[in-house]
Amino acid sequence: MEKIIKVLRENGYKITPQRRAVILALLKCDKFLTVQQILDFVKQSNPDVSLDTVYRNLDIFVQLGLVHEIHTNNREGNVFELMISGHHHHLVCLKCGEMECMENCPVNDRYFEEAEKKGFAVKRHIFEVYGYCKNCKEFKE
Ligand SMILES: [Zn+2]
Ligand SMILES: [Zn+2]
Ligand SMILES: [Zn+2]
Repeated sequence: MEKIIKVLRENGYKITPQRRAVILALLKCDKFLTVQQILDFVKQSNPDVSLDTVYRNLDIFVQLGLVHEIHTNNREGNVFELMISGHHHHLVCLKCGEMECMENCPVNDRYFEEAEKKGFAVKRHIFEVYGYCKNCKEFKE
C-alpha cells in the first residue's frame, strides 16, 4: 500500500479516500476484480463514488504501471489486478473466463528497438493469450 501511495505522490497525484479505497479493493483480493466489484468495495466507505471515478482512478494506476488491466471477453468487462509481482501476462479462458498469470514476458527487447527506430517512445504493452482452460478444453464451439 505504502509503495503504491509513494508512486502516486511522486507523480503528483493526491491520495483521495476513493483512490485509497480502489487500491485497498485490489490489495484485499488477490484475484482479478471487475470494475463493478471494485465499485461495490469502494462504495462501502465512499457511498457517493461513481463508476466513472473508479474508471478514472484505474486508468491512472494502469498508466503508472501499478495495475494490470486484463482484456477478457466476459460480459462483465475487463478485470484488474495489482502489479505486485511485476510485469507479466495472462492466460484467458474463452469459455469460463478463468484467468491465470504467466510468469514470463514473451516480448524481447529487439522488438522495442524497432519501435524506437521508428521514433516511437515505448511505455508499456499488453499481451493476453486466449484459449480453453483445463476444465473447458473438451468444449467444442
Ligand atoms: Zn475455462
Ligand atoms: Zn497476473
Ligand atoms: Zn510483457
